[in-house]
Amino acid sequence: MKKGENSFVTAATALEIILEKVTIVDSETLGIDDAFGRIVAEDICAVANVPPFDNSAMDGFALRSEDTTNATKKQPVRFRVVSELRAGSVIGDQGVAPMTAIRIMTGAPVPVGADSVIPVEDTETDSDGSVKIFQRLRAHENVRFAGEDMRTGETVLERGMKLGSAEIGLLAAVNRDTVTVYRKPRVAIISTGDEIGEVGAELRPGQIRNSNAHTLRCEVEKYGGIPTYIGIARDEPEATRDVFTRALEHDIIISTGGVSLGEYDFVQDVVESLGLKIAVHGLRIKPGRPMTFGAMGDTIFFGLPGNPVSTMVTFMQFVRPALLKMGGARRIGKPEIPAVIEDSITKRPGRREYIRGSYTTKGGRVVVSTTGPQGSGILRSMSRANCLIIVPEDVSEYKPGDVVVIQLIHHEEIM
Ligand code: AMP
Ligand code: MG
Repeated sequence: MKKGENSFVTAATALEIILEKVTIVDSETLGIDDAFGRIVAEDICAVANVPPFDNSAMDGFALRSEDTTNATKKQPVRFRVVSELRAGSVIGDQGVAPMTAIRIMTGAPVPVGADSVIPVEDTETDSDGSVKIFQRLRAHENVRFAGEDMRTGETVLERGMKLGSAEIGLLAAVNRDTVTVYRKPRVAIISTGDEIGEVGAELRPGQIRNSNAHTLRCEVEKYGGIPTYIGIARDEPEATRDVFTRALEHDIIISTGGVSLGEYDFVQDVVESLGLKIAVHGLRIKPGRPMTFGAMGDTIFFGLPGNPVSTMVTFMQFVRPALLKMGGARRIGKPEIPAVIEDSITKRPGRREYIRGSYTTKGGRVVVSTTGPQGSGILRSMSRANCLIIVPEDVSEYKPGDVVVIQLIHHEEIM
C-alpha cells in the first residue's frame, strides 16, 4: 500500500482484515495452579462422575421416603436410628431397613435402601435415640446424584475457554493436575518521536513524557500477552529502522506515533522496508484515524496513532481482539449493551466515533454520560471512563434520552 494512499476502511472491515491475518500460537503444559487466567488449548473431559456417588446435601437422617407418607405435625412418625455415616466414610451394604434411619452428614454417601434425607433441623430426637419426622418427604429430597455436576465422558471445558477460578476447580475435580494452555504471545512495544522523554528523565524544552509505552504494557498483560518495551525511535529513518529491527522476533509489534502524513512520520516506510505488508492504513473512525496494520509471516504489526487516547482506543478495538485470538481465546469481543444517554453528542456522519463514557444504573435502567472533554490527548477522560459510547457511521446526533450502544471496556469478553 503506497504511503498516503488511504483506503479509509470502516472499523468492521479493518477488524476483519486484521483477524484474518492472525495465526494462533502453539501451546505449553502447566500445573493447574499456574494456569489461572490462561486459555485452555485442549478439550477437557470428565473421566469419572462428579460427584462420584449419590450423597447427602444436608446433615440429617437418611431414610425411605415411603415410610414418611403418614407423617404430620400432629402425628409424627418415629424412626429407629441404627447408625451414623460421616462424610468420607461408608457403611456395609446392609442398607436401610423400613422404619429405620441412619444419621448422615453432608457429603456422606446415601446408604442403600434410603432414597432421601431429612434435615436435622426438621426432626426431633428422643431420649431413646429414635427420631421423629413431622412431614412427608419426597423421593430424592436432599440427595445429590452421582454425575449431576459432570458425567463420565462429558466435555466440561472446551478449547479456547479462559481458565478462571471455577475452571481451575473444575480441572481439580476431574483429577487433572496439569493442563495444556496456549503460550502467551510476545508483544514488542515501541514509542516514536523526538518529543518523547522517559519517566524520570530530564525533559528538554518541547518534550513530553512517554505515557503510551506504559498504558500499552498494562493492556498487553491484561489480555494475555508478554510485553517487552523496545525503546523510543527518534524521528529519523535509520534510527527508526534500528528500533523496529529489534522488535522483529516478536509475535506482535505495536508502535505509537509516526503514522500520520507528517514530514517526520517514518513508521510505515520503515516497516515496509523490513518486509511487512501493510494491509490497513487509515480508518473511518475517531479517534484513531491513521491507524496502520501490517503482517509478515506470523508477525503482525500495529502502528497506533500517538495521542494517548487514540492509542488506547485503537488498542481496544483492534489490537486487543487480535491478541486474544492469537492467544487462542474463543471470546474476543466486549459486551455491547443499550444505554440511555444523558448528554448530547453531535458528530460528522461517515465515521464511527468512540466517546469516553461512564455508565451506571438508575431505577433499573443503564444510563451513560460522557466523561468530559474528548480531545485525543486527554487521558484523564479515559481514566474516568468505564465504557465507550459507540456512535455509528450513519449517526450525526444523539439527544439526551436517546438509546445508544455502549461497549463495556472493563468487562470480560463475552462475544
Ligand atoms: P504522532 O502520531 O507521532 O504525530 O503523535 C501524535 C501526538 O501524540 C503528539 O502530540 C505526540 O506528542 C503524542 N505522543 C506520541 N507518542 C506519545 C507517547 N509515547 N506518549 C505520550 N504522547 C505521545
Ligand atoms: Mg510523532
